[in-house]
Amino acid sequence: MIIENLQTVQENIRKACKNCGRAYEEVTLLCVSKTKPVGMLKEAYEFGMREFGENKVQELCDKAEVLPGDIKWHMIGHLQRNKVKYIVGKTELIHSVDSERLAEEISKESLKKNVTTNILIEVNVAGEESKFGVSPDETVSFVEKIAKLPAICVKGLMTIAPFVENPEENREFFKNLRKLSIDITNKHIDNVSMSILSMGMTGDYTTAIEEGATHVRVGTGIFGVRDYKE
Ligand SMILES: *Cc1c(COP(=O)(O)O)cnc(C)c1O
Repeated sequence: MIIENLQTVQENIRKACKNCGRAYEEVTLLCVSKTKPVGMLKEAYEFGMREFGENKVQELCDKAEVLPGDIKWHMIGHLQRNKVKYIVGKTELIHSVDSERLAEEISKESLKKNVTTNILIEVNVAGEESKFGVSPDETVSFVEKIAKLPAICVKGLMTIAPFVENPEENREFFKNLRKLSIDITNKHIDNVSMSILSMGMTGDYTTAIEEGATHVRVGTGIFGVRDYKE
């Protein structure tokens, strides 16, 4: 099932890229494997997938320990400062930086471990009460502040769009995230690049690609629905 799902998702990505004149290689598919057993991740790995997203520190660390070392792990969930020490040095990218104190902690821990940690700024584009993320209005000044911290490198923006039936409803949010990343690029802030736009999930990744996503985070569409009771 996982292999068929991956083939379908890749085909959809290919079509979306074609529709908007982008190259398939511009889009990275992250397999969001939260709550799913290691055996399922192995199947995806054997199919050729190398980038996985998890939203809990403990789960990411446990899985990283038993799975092949060439997997790139993405931390996509809300991150507490007291857990930063466990994942610095183990992640390809932390997608969910949304406070100065969290950025400072990642910087401090990265210095200690003598690594540079790549991060994205999580933006709450739809202004949803229930969601984490910096508000769009505050994003530029937020990036300017944390860009000065040592041992971290801002690579772009991430958003979790609202859960909707029709992905067209999220198009405007994806457009706005892209606009924001262009505004930030035009500020030419030292140590900041806006090469990554992490947006789009199972319900809306093709729309996100049409609006410029470089990383789509797909869970259900690959591994099936999640059962949180287990
Ligand atoms: C769970 C999760 C996803 C994947 O969601 P699906 O709808 O299952 O594709 C993507 N991004 C984040 C931040 C998540 O927590």
